[in-house]
Amino acid sequence: MIKTTRKSKREKEKEINFFEAFIKLQKHFFKDIKERLKRVKDPRHKSYIEYGSDVILFSVLMKNACGIYSMSNMIEQFNKDECIENIARVLGCELEELPHYDTINNFLCSLNPEEIEKIRDYMIRELFRKRSLESFRLLNKHWCIAVDATGLFSFSERHCEHCLKKEYKNKETGEIEKTVYYHKVLEAKMVVGDMVFSIATEFIENEDENVSKQDCEINAFKRLAAKLRKKYPRLPVGILGDSLYACEPVFEICSSNNWEYLIRFKEGRIKSVAREFNNIKGLEGKKTGDSTWINDIFYNQRVVILIET
Ligand SMILES: [Zn+2]
Repeated sequence: MIKTTRKSKREKEKEINFFEAFIKLQKHFFKDIKERLKRVKDPRHKSYIEYGSDVILFSVLMKNACGIYSMSNMIEQFNKDECIENIARVLGCELEELPHYDTINNFLCSLNPEEIEKIRDYMIRELFRKRSLESFRLLNKHWCIAVDATGLFSFSERHCEHCLKKEYKNKETGEIEKTVYYHKVLEAKMVVGDMVFSIATEFIENEDENVSKQDCEINAFKRLAAKLRKKYPRLPVGILGDSLYACEPVFEICSSNNWEYLIRFKEGRIKSVAREFNNIKGLEGKKTGDSTWINDIFYNQRVVILIET
């Protein structure tokens, strides 16, 4: 095995012309993408539009494809005649300058996220249509989709009416010492070899400030699953999740959608299953290497398989 250090990775990346590589891929897989970038529902007032949505979104796509993390860094790196000409040539338009990052940020802030989702969906459908993802099916059947939530940002004061809220209390007095307002997103990521890409997204957020029960990851999963099912009704899905997902609502959604699931198990999450496994693993457990598994564990009228590694 060749160990890749970060430095050698960076050196190697320098040799790649990401722009050309992206254009090659785009021509082969996503012929229609330029049109789609142009057709997004532009939230801006027509009289203020200096750069088309295609120029802005394409610049951002290139930023990400080139592994540039900040907008200001992008402008610094892209604002060269050659680069501007390349982008203009690809999009078939006249360009003297690239949009300022404030212009890009303002546009992205006002754009409905669904407009970006439509472009992502188009790209994923093209990959399925061209059968480019066939070799990544588990047991030649299911595509693994990992679900997990991640924090987006947090604030010490309320930032909007949809914020989730967490109060930290003093253990002795019970007084609230600190309140944190935060936003989270639940992502469904398709696993393709050693890469993953986002296939569906659901924000975890409250409807308003006065909700009696806050939104949570499992509720967001219910919405995410409905979205995924609507977008790809016949996709053979295998859900991968951490131990939080080992619960009846998730099992129920998966069975009714004909999805398989592979979920990490923690003893505390479903005690009856843990008890049964521990009671019979010495007698009926099958072993291979360091792993022991039991095929038929009954839980809420369903049968689960538990593997201990
Ligand atoms: Zn907020």
